[in-house]
Amino acid sequence: MNKLQGCPICDSLHTGDEWDKATLSMCNNREMRRKFIPFSSSRGMHISKKSQYKCPNCNKYVYRIHIKESYLDDDEIIKTR
Ligand SMILES: [Zn+2]
Repeated sequence: MNKLQGCPICDSLHTGDEWDKATLSMCNNREMRRKFIPFSSSRGMHISKKSQYKCPNCNKYVYRIHIKESYLDDDEIIKTR
């Protein structure tokens, strides 16, 4: 079962890796890369409301708390929160 993260703006679903890659591509200096928190480590207690990620589809920046987590099973979304 794959965990996917949904963009609140364009409703497209991407893996955490895809969000990371799109966001990191915008970090063009060392300072920004140092501050970057990979999507997979920003869950639970480490979640930062101020963390922003760049959507791989619409290229807009969205706050971590606005990104909806979904589970994909047999190409069907069975749970969204
Ligand atoms: Zn989007």
